[in-house]
Amino acid sequence: MADNHNSGGKIGINTHLAHIGPDPHGNQGFVNPSIQRGSTVLFPDHHTMKTESQKYTYGTHGTPTTDALCDAINQLEGSHGTLIFSSGLAAVTVPLLAFLSAGDHMLMVDSVYAPARRFCETELKRFGVETEYFDPAIGEGIEALIRPNTKLVHLEAPASNTFEMIDVGAISRVAKRHGCVVTMDNTWATPLYFRPLDHGVDISMHAATKYPSGHSDILMGLVSANKETWDQLDACNRNLGLCGSPDDAYMILRGLRTMGIRLAHHEKSALDVAHWLEARSDVLSVLHPALPSFPGHDLWKRDFKGASGVFSFVLKGEEGNTDLNRRKAAAFIDALTFFGLGYSWGGYESLAVHVYLGDRRIRKGPTDGPLIRLQIGLEDVADLKADLEKGFAAAAAVTA
Ligand SMILES: *Cc1c(COP(=O)(O)O)cnc(C)c1O
Repeated sequence: MADNHNSGGKIGINTHLAHIGPDPHGNQGFVNPSIQRGSTVLFPDHHTMKTESQKYTYGTHGTPTTDALCDAINQLEGSHGTLIFSSGLAAVTVPLLAFLSAGDHMLMVDSVYAPARRFCETELKRFGVETEYFDPAIGEGIEALIRPNTKLVHLEAPASNTFEMIDVGAISRVAKRHGCVVTMDNTWATPLYFRPLDHGVDISMHAATKYPSGHSDILMGLVSANKETWDQLDACNRNLGLCGSPDDAYMILRGLRTMGIRLAHHEKSALDVAHWLEARSDVLSVLHPALPSFPGHDLWKRDFKGASGVFSFVLKGEEGNTDLNRRKAAAFIDALTFFGLGYSWGGYESLAVHVYLGDRRIRKGPTDGPLIRLQIGLEDVADLKADLEKGFAAAAAVTA
């Protein structure tokens, strides 16, 4: 499992998380940064304004508070620059806008976060960009899909809802050889468990709404780019006029301090529940990359330093009987007390969702029973298992 306590001779990740970001002595000794709100920034004279020769020029271009978060994320991702957005979805879509033009072709993993696909099929299509989807297991075989006008390859690993792994290094090598920009949604692992840029990815995106926030009360997206892609990305963002708020940046920076220990707890509890589910006769399969039984386990073990707290399982149902499977899923979820029924994840509380995979084109989900996604929160595992037992009893009572 992940050794979070020492990363190869360097200081441990939790020590790092406690000290990255703002400089207390630059803030009169206060440990945390000030929340610098603002639109207008005053210049001392005409010359300074005309040459924009001071660090801060206008609120949309960054504040000391948002910079403190960007500096911290750059250290975690190993990136040249980081942009802040008001949601994780914006963090996924803006880099696509920055690098794709009319007539271009993009390759996107089929097991992608569904709203990213919707963006491609609506806005990008309207702008004349064609998106083609590929199987997450494609590896170097992606070369056969690359055309002269292929400009970008978008990855996400593990997959949303079904958790397939991707050989990020192999795909990035091939894509770069053909001059494509490689982007990756790294929300599940966070930079603590996977650093995309170390594996050849150009731009790593993250819904900070999830683990960096950790408390289900903030929406934020982060985009971290290498030096080669930074200028074009930053220029596009300035044209779009998007930015994140200093108050939210402060809260995410606060969340980072405990993210290491929270993730370690999520990981341990989720694996405990995953093993427990795998041993049950009313569970057909458990989709969790850290389980040796999972098809992508070797890739996960090779590349990732840990696993977070979100995974899925297939509840025993009847192959192809969608009505029965839907009723079993509903009974299971409605019987739960500690598991809330809601979108998103990464907070302290457990969640359960009956997953919809109707948008998949190439990598279809399991059909032998309903797929239930769990976010294992910070509650005590024994209570969560007792809660799930109630769900299993309710599902078993549903018959054809
Ligand atoms: C939640 C999520 C997003 C979007 O984040 P929001 O802040 O909810 O817009 C993007 N990608 C993945 C993989 C996610 O899980």
